[in-house]
Amino acid sequence: MTDLSQLGVAGPIYEPLNQPFWEAAAQGVLKIQHCGACDRHVFYPRPICPHCWADALDWVAVSGRGRLKSYSEIWKPGHPGWIPVAPYLVGLVELDEGPTLLSHILAQDNHVQIGDRLTLAPTQIGGRVLPCFRKDPS
Ligand SMILES: [Zn+2]
Repeated sequence: MTDLSQLGVAGPIYEPLNQPFWEAAAQGVLKIQHCGACDRHVFYPRPICPHCWADALDWVAVSGRGRLKSYSEIWKPGHPGWIPVAPYLVGLVELDEGPTLLSHILAQDNHVQIGDRLTLAPTQIGGRVLPCFRKDPS
């Protein structure tokens, strides 16, 4: 298997609003926002809560557990840096805390099904740690 850490791929764009997410990811931790007013989790990063509009969002570590909501097997990557690992999976992960995020899905032979349980699998890709998810053993 190709060493993912050596891929020549573009990385995330860091800005103040997403900095806590990427700093946590670099440590192998998944952090998303949580609203202190309505007690709901929020992803993607925003300045105010999309549920109650309160300015009360804090960053919290979450379980890193979820289920596969949808996915695609990528055979023709949009960036040539990904060609060495194609085909690979990207999917929508519905976190147990509620929000959905897009991530790489790691599974033996790319075999997954909608509804599969997933666990956070921080992975070195192209010189940085990305919060990938791995299919749980069946
Ligand atoms: Zn709220």
